[in-house]
Amino acid sequence: MASTAPVASTSKGPIEPQTVLYCAICSYPPEYCEFNSKKAKCKAWLESAHPALHAKYYSESALEDKLANLTVEQRAALDKDLAKKEKKEEQKAEKEKAKQASAKIILKRMERNKKKYVTSVQGLHHFNVDLKKAAKLFANKFGAGATVSKTPQGDEEILIQGDTSADVEEMLLNQEDKKLVAVFGGKISDNQISTVIEQPKKKTAASEAAAAAALVPAQ
Ligand SMILES: [Zn+2]
Repeated sequence: MASTAPVASTSKGPIEPQTVLYCAICSYPPEYCEFNSKKAKCKAWLESAHPALHAKYYSESALEDKLANLTVEQRAALDKDLAKKEKKEEQKAEKEKAKQASAKIILKRMERNKKKYVTSVQGLHHFNVDLKKAAKLFANKFGAGATVSKTPQGDEEILIQGDTSADVEEMLLNQEDKKLVAVFGGKISDNQISTVIEQPKKKTAASEAAAAAALVPAQ
């Protein structure tokens, strides 16, 4: 019995050249998109990416033909394969979700000079944010310098002149402003953002003492 028969060949016409197109949504050949749970998305994708194929595969007669031509074994194999694939996709999506849920953004206010602050934004890479674009948005919004730089841990952070953490948080959480959503994704929740206020360096006491000592005449 041909239970291992390839299921990817139901066309009755002459054999077409072997440039196989895979759906960008479900990764199946577009003829099979209809058998998976994302078929609505698949259909929309095909319609915009390959309108001719969309017309071909989604005409009513095409769909009827295809179903009629599948053998019981082919259907079973297809179902099994799709179930496997779907489960894999689900697991992947769950993993990604967990990863994002545990991802943290840290907004750190650092005092550089007396009352002069720099705000560090760390962790945006967890949300696939383009840091250069983000820095540009911050620079425009605050009319202040905003640069991408490396942290000592090797990650990248954005440094913004000024104490901007509250405004930055608002920007990250914004789900309405198209410009902001385009850069930050509109999927960050407030429990994923921590604001840290860096305490002035401990050496203030020591340096004050040193400064005081310097005032004392050396004689
Ligand atoms: Zn598809």
